[in-house]
Amino acid sequence: MSKAKDDITIDDIFSKIGTYIEDEEQLAIIRKAYLFAKEKHDGQFRKSGEGYIIHPMNVALILTTIYADYETISAGFLHDVLEDCDCSNEELEGEFGSVITKLVQGVTKLSKIHFSTENEYLIDYYKKIIVGMSEDVRVIIVKLADRLHNMRTLWALPEDRQKVKAREALEILAPIAHHLGIHKIKSELEDLSLRYLKPDVFYDIAEKLNKTKIERDQTVYDMQREVSDLLTEHHIVHEIKGRAKSIYSIFNKLDKGKKFSDIYDLLALRILVNTEQECYLALGIIHSKFRPLPKRFKDYIAMPKPNMYQSLHTTVFGIDGYLFEIQLRTHQMDEVAENGIASHWSYKESGGSKPTANLQSTTEQKLQFFKSIIDLSHENMSSEEFVNSVKDEVLNNNIYVFTPKGDVIELPRGATPIDFAYKIHTKVGETTVGAIVNNSIVPLDYELKNNDIVKINTNKNSTPSKEWINMVKATQTRNKIRSFFAKSEKDVYIDRGKYQLEKELRKKKLGISEFFSNSNVEEICKSLNLVDLDDIYLSVGNGKVSTLTVIHVINKEKEQAVPKVKKVVAKNLDADIIVNGIDKVKVNLANCCNPVYGDPIVGYITKGNGIRVHRLHCHNLSMLENRTLDVSWNSNTNKKYLTCILIHTNTLDNHMVDFIQIISMLGINVDGITTMSKTDKIIYEANCYVTGVEQLDKMIMALEKNSYVTKVERAMR
Ligand code: MN
Repeated sequence: MSKAKDDITIDDIFSKIGTYIEDEEQLAIIRKAYLFAKEKHDGQFRKSGEGYIIHPMNVALILTTIYADYETISAGFLHDVLEDCDCSNEELEGEFGSVITKLVQGVTKLSKIHFSTENEYLIDYYKKIIVGMSEDVRVIIVKLADRLHNMRTLWALPEDRQKVKAREALEILAPIAHHLGIHKIKSELEDLSLRYLKPDVFYDIAEKLNKTKIERDQTVYDMQREVSDLLTEHHIVHEIKGRAKSIYSIFNKLDKGKKFSDIYDLLALRILVNTEQECYLALGIIHSKFRPLPKRFKDYIAMPKPNMYQSLHTTVFGIDGYLFEIQLRTHQMDEVAENGIASHWSYKESGGSKPTANLQSTTEQKLQFFKSIIDLSHENMSSEEFVNSVKDEVLNNNIYVFTPKGDVIELPRGATPIDFAYKIHTKVGETTVGAIVNNSIVPLDYELKNNDIVKINTNKNSTPSKEWINMVKATQTRNKIRSFFAKSEKDVYIDRGKYQLEKELRKKKLGISEFFSNSNVEEICKSLNLVDLDDIYLSVGNGKVSTLTVIHVINKEKEQAVPKVKKVVAKNLDADIIVNGIDKVKVNLANCCNPVYGDPIVGYITKGNGIRVHRLHCHNLSMLENRTLDVSWNSNTNKKYLTCILIHTNTLDNHMVDFIQIISMLGINVDGITTMSKTDKIIYEANCYVTGVEQLDKMIMALEKNSYVTKVERAMR
């Protein structure tokens, strides 16, 4: 691989440059830089045995792949002449002027540092990078290209040098490329580093990928065609690419404990369209055909990453049961994703300012990390503090804190004890009442720092506060808190019942406050065996009692034949679901939320598979909004419904037998119970067949009576 790339000629490089630089003067300067370097390096050879000029030529070629401007390419050719040749600053400046000379000087300064990942050298290195970048970010870009070519030819060095160089590339240069958004260079640096640092792992992954390649390629190709047809059908002009995962990214996932099969089963597509609107449009169309995996959708268009990356990410169940990771973005976003700040060379913004000025100002404006290091360099810090700050704030946005037992917990910078508590377990988060950091009590909005030891105090009866939503840092925590409030389903049902009743009363032109007078409420409760007004709302909201039944209690004289309505609609007595106005249609119950009789439900019109019925609050529905229709339960059904519940306990003692007994006592069939062990408790997942919400509620209540049960909830997938 690397040898073939070294067989380049100067004509190759110029034909590549010619594709995007037309200015004759600029081309002449590049050519002059090449000839100057060739002469200066004459007689020098690389460790690999080739003429030295091959190296600067390759650096220049790499720079053309990210559309570098003429000054940067010239500096690429010249980057080693000050260091290795008989050439002075004055001579260089006389020949090429101050801009190119400064670039070469900058690269030379960086090269003089004895690379090491030891702290004291890192300080120097980071400082140089900061200075280099604040003067001209192109210095760093040349340095990255320089290092990439050295990595490609690393085979020529002795093994111990290989490892040192590979580690530097992985720990210092790849993160810098990442933060500059230059994905192409970052990814290749990582793969090359892995190849020398862990050759057995590298070749093992490469071989496994190779073995399954044909099958995967075919599946990706088929999926690509289906998605393409779908988008064409909707008149969206697009380009689709199958996408190879880098070996390093697979290694990283394996390292985090994932199974190889889980990773390579995950196939990837990238879809490029013309406009931002089309990204969202295409996403909707794809989701309507291929079911998305819940919670895997990410919108980096609305919320770009700090390195300017923009894209929509989703994972769907594609053809042949394979999961597909799909990225959707515009051509311009793709350019930024591949080349980062360097993309400003190729995508010149209108307004006519010099692309280089743009590049530099983009660096300053958009790269948060760049700003933060500039700020850091002005503070008087000890060397060690400096390195730690740069590492944490710049190269890594996470902090690491400890549990009292010494387990390491990774959190985003700015995280609070609440984030920590939820990271331990949702139940811990939800019952948090206080926090102790390094033996002192701290407020819950305290900002955690690296190496803090965090202890959370909980109280079983405590629940989250809505204010927490603004106090937490991790998006994941925020979502969990939000879903806690959304999940107080009872409140949702009460609101819904109130709304339905009031709507119906207005329709019938009955006064609302008049209707719910104390005496009327009493009469309704007596007649329907309910407790109070909220209970009336709840019963309507969860579908146990219809609005008409409630109204009928008070209003029976005025409306005579109304209660027959249901029977009229329910012609088809076999069906357990009634679809308004449609007689014979295939209906099935969604297995993500498993609705049971009595649940508020909504139908979703599938493509060619009839109507799928979801619970009203199923989170999968939000994606499917405009293809839903009203459905209701047939009260004549006596079917049993599969439901899945999660029983949270606070102990490691196994209570499976107890649960089976409690559930069976209610006449409910248990289809299966599985356990999930956490560090200090067990959560049980039970599948049972119930006649409806009423029986289900009884079961949940019976389970919750046990002191070792902290919560019982219905599973939503
Ligand atoms: Mn070099």
